[in-house]
Amino acid sequence: MKRKTFHNAAGYKRVLWGLQAVFIALPAVLFLTGCAGNPGGRTEPYSETFFAMDTYMTFTIYGAKAEDSLKQAEDRIRELEGLWSVTDTKSDIYAVNHSGGKPVAVDGETEELLSFALEMAEETGGALEPTIYPVLAAWGFTTGENRVPDREEIEELLNRVDYTGVRWDGGSIVLEEGSMLDLGAVGKGYAGDQVIQLLKENGVTSALLDIGGNIQAVGAKPDGSSWRVGLKDPFSGGVLGVIQVADEAVVTSGSYERYFTGKDGKRYGHIIDPATGYPVDNGLASVSVIASEGKLCDALSTALFVMGLEDAERYWRQNQGFDMILVTVDEGIFVTEGVKDRFSLQSEYQDMTVNVIEK
Ligand code: AMP
Ligand code: MG
Repeated sequence: MKRKTFHNAAGYKRVLWGLQAVFIALPAVLFLTGCAGNPGGRTEPYSETFFAMDTYMTFTIYGAKAEDSLKQAEDRIRELEGLWSVTDTKSDIYAVNHSGGKPVAVDGETEELLSFALEMAEETGGALEPTIYPVLAAWGFTTGENRVPDREEIEELLNRVDYTGVRWDGGSIVLEEGSMLDLGAVGKGYAGDQVIQLLKENGVTSALLDIGGNIQAVGAKPDGSSWRVGLKDPFSGGVLGVIQVADEAVVTSGSYERYFTGKDGKRYGHIIDPATGYPVDNGLASVSVIASEGKLCDALSTALFVMGLEDAERYWRQNQGFDMILVTVDEGIFVTEGVKDRFSLQSEYQDMTVNVIEK
């Protein structure tokens, strides 16, 4: 295992429960105003927050077409949400999940997203499992009425979980009866890529999208410097570190995002290990993936979180094309070499150990 510590200090004892990629609140004011550049004759960004895809999204756009572009971007998100929602009875995914095994004709974009999810399921050895929904539902993550199912129930439900059972019939999806799709682990990243394409077509050269914690950037800040994206330790409320990005996505997965505490006092998170049917409990608190495409980041952050530290390192070495920052519940931070020079700890976290994963 090739790891190098570039910041080493003894005594990191605090248990970190997770991170969330956030657009740092404090400096945000600094880097959203007073920019040197003046794209499209406008120096102030246009920013709006709205609720879609079960999360809050904040889009910040610079340039003359910012306001119009933001409206179009929100419409685009709602259009995709309408296709992929598991609860909206008019969505493609709802229709497939209630098809009783019959082929369902779906929109080309649903086809594209599902194909990508299935491809990534294959690539990640089933760590990403787009048919995990029945198990997720048994744990109550789909309704909020959380419970710990017994082992037999989980075993039974796992029989219905198998991405290799999803078939195509022309442009139609055929799902075996009892099987159900959930594209929640990839949909937001894919949607982010679509919004970025729309913004670029509108001539936008500088924008930052916060899609429920997924951060996606168009270009750099108007003054040409990188965006500074914070990785947040939600339990202290502090920003653990900052990653600098331009024209890239930073997507984080972790159990802390959605979890419940069982009667046994244990925390159960919303990301399920398809091998066991139980919420991931492998010592990882969070995984952030940095790459140019949001959909890849989104698929990988979920899958690598399922894999655990060692397998995630192995996957990175074999695949490349992305960087990652992993935080374990008790050991520290692991970053791949491609981000080590653009990731820095905030001052309150300077005593943490950052391990560099090398090829
Ligand atoms: P993310 O926040 O992108 O990591 O996605 C987590 C969401 O994906 C969960 O809330 C579930 O809806 C779904 N999910 C949970 N476990 C898995 C898994 N192993 N593979 C694919 N999707 C999953
Ligand atoms: Mg994901």
